[in-house]
Amino acid sequence: MGVANAAYYATKDPIGEDGDFVTAPEISQMFGELVGIWLSDLWMRKAKPDNSHYIELGPGRGTLASDALRTMAKFGCKPQIHFVETSPALKTKQAALHNSAAWHKTIDSLPTDGPLMIVANEFFDALPVEQFISTQAGWRRQMVARERNKFIAIPGTTTIENQVLKSSAGLPAGTILESSPASVEILGDLSNRVAKQGGAILIIDYGYDHPGTGSTLQAVKNHLPISPFDSPGTSDLTAHVNFHSLGNIAKTRLLSVHGPTEQGQWLKTLGIDQRAKKLAESRPDQAEEIRAAHHRLTHVEEMGRLFRVMAAISMDWPEPEGFVYSGS
Ligand code: SAH
Repeated sequence: MGVANAAYYATKDPIGEDGDFVTAPEISQMFGELVGIWLSDLWMRKAKPDNSHYIELGPGRGTLASDALRTMAKFGCKPQIHFVETSPALKTKQAALHNSAAWHKTIDSLPTDGPLMIVANEFFDALPVEQFISTQAGWRRQMVARERNKFIAIPGTTTIENQVLKSSAGLPAGTILESSPASVEILGDLSNRVAKQGGAILIIDYGYDHPGTGSTLQAVKNHLPISPFDSPGTSDLTAHVNFHSLGNIAKTRLLSVHGPTEQGQWLKTLGIDQRAKKLAESRPDQAEEIRAAHHRLTHVEEMGRLFRVMAAISMDWPEPEGFVYSGS
C-alpha cells in the first residue's frame, strides 16, 4: 500500500473533479477558513506566541493552507509554514501558492522549538495499513500474492498470535483486524513534540471511533471504487482511520484529546452557517454554489458524518472550540 501510494502521488495531482477524488478544502474556501479560525482562537487565548509553526501533513494543492493562513493573518497570527509532503508533483502546486514554506519529506526534520499548530486533512487515510486474518490455524498476517496475472490477498504461513489483541481470541475464522503502524509512529512522534513544544494537532478524516473488525482498504479511480489489486499505483488507496487508536496514542503522551466528533457538527459549531450566509450575500451570483458546498461539507449523508474531527492539545494550551462533547 505504501509503495503503491508513493508511486500514485509522485507523478500527478489526483485531487479535483478531473482527478480521482475531491477533498473538503477543494469544495469551498469555508473549510480552510474555519480551520484557520479554530487555530487562531487557540493561539490568541494562549497569548499569541510569536515563534509558532503552522505544519500541514499532506497539503495536497495547498488550498487548505491558503484559506487557513489568510484567515489567521487577519487575527495577527502569522506562523512559519512547514509542509510535510512526499509528492514532487503536489509540492510544485503548493510552491505556486506558498513561496515562504519549508518542505519536509518526513516529520523528522520539523522544527524542535516553538509551538506547533499541526493540521492533517485526509492524510492519515493515505498511510499504509496491515491486516491480520483469523484462520482455523490461528491468526496470520494478510499477505499479497500473485496468481497468474492477478494480485490476491492470502493469509501468511506464520502464526502471529502475540501481535493480536487478547480480546480478539475466539473471533470467527475469516475475521480481519487492521492497524496502521505508520500512523501510530507519526502521531506518537508528533504528540511527543507537541507535549514538549506546546501546540495542537487537528486531524480530519473518515474513520471510526471504536475498534472494529473487517477490511476498510479501498481504491478509488476517477471517483469510482475499484479493486485495490487492479493496477496498483494508478488508484488512490486508503483505509479508514482508527480514531480510537490515534486518540489513545495522544493521551499516553499526555495531550488532551477532544473528539472525534462529526465534521458537520464541528463546522456548524464554528460558524459555517453564518459564513455561508455572508459569502452568499456578498456574491449573489454564487449563492447556489455556496449552498451546495455547505450541504456537501456538513450534511450527514454527504461528508458531515463520515468525516470525523479530532484534536490533541498540549496541557499548557487552552481547551479548543468546536467540540460539543469532549474526551479527556
Ligand atoms: N490535505 C489535502 C490532500 C489530501 S490527499 C487536501 O485535503 O486536499 C493526501 C496528501 O498526503 C497528498 O498531498 C499526498 O501527496 C500526501 N501524502 C501521502 N502519503 C504521504 C506520506 N507518507 N508522507 C507525506 N505525505 C504524504
